Amino acid sequence: MDPVIIDRIEFNPDPEKFFHKMRTKPGSRQEELVLSLLDEGRQVGRPRAIYTITGIDQHLDDGVVLNGIRMKSKVMAINLSAVHRVFPYLNSSGRELFDWTQSKEDLLERYYAEEISQLALRTAEEFLLAHLKTTYQLGKTSSLNPGSLEDWPITAQRPLFQLLGDPLESIGVELTESMLMLPNQSVSGIRYSSETDFSNCELCPRENCSHRRAPFDESLLKEKYL
Ligand code: SF4
Repeated sequence: MDPVIIDRIEFNPDPEKFFHKMRTKPGSRQEELVLSLLDEGRQVGRPRAIYTITGIDQHLDDGVVLNGIRMKSKVMAINLSAVHRVFPYLNSSGRELFDWTQSKEDLLERYYAEEISQLALRTAEEFLLAHLKTTYQLGKTSSLNPGSLEDWPITAQRPLFQLLGDPLESIGVELTESMLMLPNQSVSGIRYSSETDFSNCELCPRENCSHRRAPFDESLLKEKYL
């Protein structure tokens, strides 16, 4: 299947929620600055997503083959053992917000702009998940993301991008030589139907990660994946 591009995602962040997150004081100059940046971000922002549907050609002991492309990961092999199709995807804040953030020379403004770009990325993530659930009548799903675990390192970005065609051309997301994505507020992964709510974070011991979505479960790691 050709990748599906989603480029009409409304970006209309709620100021009150953002003030709360940024801990601004009501009526302060900080609040005024945040509000004006939020307005700019709303006008500039164009979050996007792309996905495809891929059958699993082969289940291996240490990975899977998707559309002729080998993905080496024991976690993937175990989690996808009963799955027959997956949804490789990429969500992004969009190039416009990235360029806008880079244009901010003042450090505080750039910090807020980065946070606003992160909101746009979350908007794209939520939109794509709802779209997949509605369109393909998926129940519970989980996602695996390259680079989150040693088991599926950041170098797996390359084959994942291959599955998605040309994300630079289609949604403006570039993969650098060091496997970083530009815009930096982009997330790639493979979503699949799952009875359990699996999160990479359950197998990741990293401390003080502000993006953690689930606590590290050492016994799960040892009992199921090692
Ligand atoms: S804890 Fe942080 S680094 Fe580890 S998988 Fe979760 S988001 Fe990624």
